[in-house]
Amino acid sequence: MLIILSGPSGVGKGTVREELFKDDSLNLAYSISMTTRKPRPNERDGIDYFFVEEEEFKSKIEEGKLLEWAQFVGNYYGTPKDYVDKLFNEGKNVVLEIDLQGALQVMKKCPDATTIFLWPPSLGELERRIGGRRTEEEEIVQQRLSKARKEIGTKDEYKYVVENDDVIEAKDKIAEIIKKHQTNQG
Ligand code: 5GP
Repeated sequence: MLIILSGPSGVGKGTVREELFKDDSLNLAYSISMTTRKPRPNERDGIDYFFVEEEEFKSKIEEGKLLEWAQFVGNYYGTPKDYVDKLFNEGKNVVLEIDLQGALQVMKKCPDATTIFLWPPSLGELERRIGGRRTEEEEIVQQRLSKARKEIGTKDEYKYVVENDDVIEAKDKIAEIIKKHQTNQG
């Protein structure tokens, strides 16, 4: 089963995902993306992302090795096909945490994917969270905010919209969605 988790920058996708992954009964595996963005201080290569130079990323595109890819605030992000295949072969439910542009590409290729949009409690709260990330320069923060404002208008593309007011509640709702789909697929 393929699960796409999207939502504006700062909505708390990472935190909700961490909670989801604590639930072993969901049998989840995280698809580690490739990016040209520089690592944040707490991020590790091969765990949070595969961090690469632009040249390497572009050759992956040319070789057709990405399931989807997109440019986001000046950097490239993409899903390596072989890594996702490896997780499927291990019998996992694979979670892609990707932006709308990437999600649309995957929805076309895999219409059965379970698609979930994480919704912020309010735009003010989102701005507070993005602005509170002290690791990024003001200009980048502004670009992320403007992108976030646009992205919250795209929720209708997704099968499910879950509000992240409380992390545990959001996690529970997503777990329920995944379990429902698992049962349906028998
Ligand atoms: P961040 O720089 O905050 O880690 O990620 C920025 C945005 O890129 C987030 O919306 C995140 O979900 C998205 N993103 C991360 N990995 C991928 C990917 O592989 N493909 C696409 N299309 N977006 C991604």
